[in-house]
Amino acid sequence: MKDMSCATYECEFCGLHYFDEDTAQSCLNWCVEHNSCNLEITATSVERTHKADDDNRNFSAATTELNQIE
Ligand SMILES: [Zn+2]
Repeated sequence: MKDMSCATYECEFCGLHYFDEDTAQSCLNWCVEHNSCNLEITATSVERTHKADDDNRNFSAATTELNQIE
């Protein structure tokens, strides 16, 4: 949630957010032209990179829980 308060740029077509305006514009251009997303572009979106952070945090939490049981 808090990461969304950072300055991000939204592709108005697919709704994904990007850290830089150029990438958001590239995504929008691609989305409008192809009516689908470019995986190489969406891989850099806030949603994708944020999801990776969540996965790492969950893994750390699981590891900590395991140590406490022992
Ligand atoms: Zn897009």
